[in-house]
Amino acid sequence: MVRTLYDTVDIEVLSTVDKISFALKEILLVKHFFKASLEFLPGEDAPRWKWTKEGAFTSKSAYSIMRDPGMRSTYYNQLWKTKAPLKVKVFFWTALLDRLLTRENMHHKGWTVQRECVLCQNNFETGLHLFAQCPFARYVWDGFFRPGANMQTGDKLSEIWLLNRQLLTMNYKDNWDTVWMAGTWNIWKMRCTVIFEGASADADEVIRKTIQDCKAWISFC
Ligand SMILES: [Zn+2]
Repeated sequence: MVRTLYDTVDIEVLSTVDKISFALKEILLVKHFFKASLEFLPGEDAPRWKWTKEGAFTSKSAYSIMRDPGMRSTYYNQLWKTKAPLKVKVFFWTALLDRLLTRENMHHKGWTVQRECVLCQNNFETGLHLFAQCPFARYVWDGFFRPGANMQTGDKLSEIWLLNRQLLTMNYKDNWDTVWMAGTWNIWKMRCTVIFEGASADADEVIRKTIQDCKAWISFC
């Protein structure tokens, strides 16, 4: 029906159409959710639906993940308004839900992988470790905290970001979430470069790239 009416089912194109039906408008409200729900695994050419074990879409899984209290909190709404490219927001959101393909998550999916964090070689690579507890991540975040600020920990990344927002330097007062997103994004990119290209981990480089991204996103978005 959508294809007949609008000549496309491309969600980006549909978002720009002037007169769309009420039903389609409702559907477009969840496009971020839809995009973040697909993942591409190496060696597979079709995307997988993230919320079922088999990777196939079921409305039950979509419903239950959307009923997740976290999804409806103001923090998640705020997240979509943050100044950052869409792909980074989707990445960050996936990290908050702990659905990134970290080594621990791959291990839990039954893959044979090394489980240690490549940035410190000292702990299993969970999202919580990689982005908040790893000495590498702590060094990166220290670059953005006010002098003497002590990063507080928690059990969930979303909790940690909220707890520590106020510790970031005033330079980014109106854009704290942009800093979290850019930092998390660049830690992940560094981790991938180390794993896939054999580079050595460079925390100062992550800080530089994070500052660069923040500046670009804040002025362009
Ligand atoms: Zn580590």
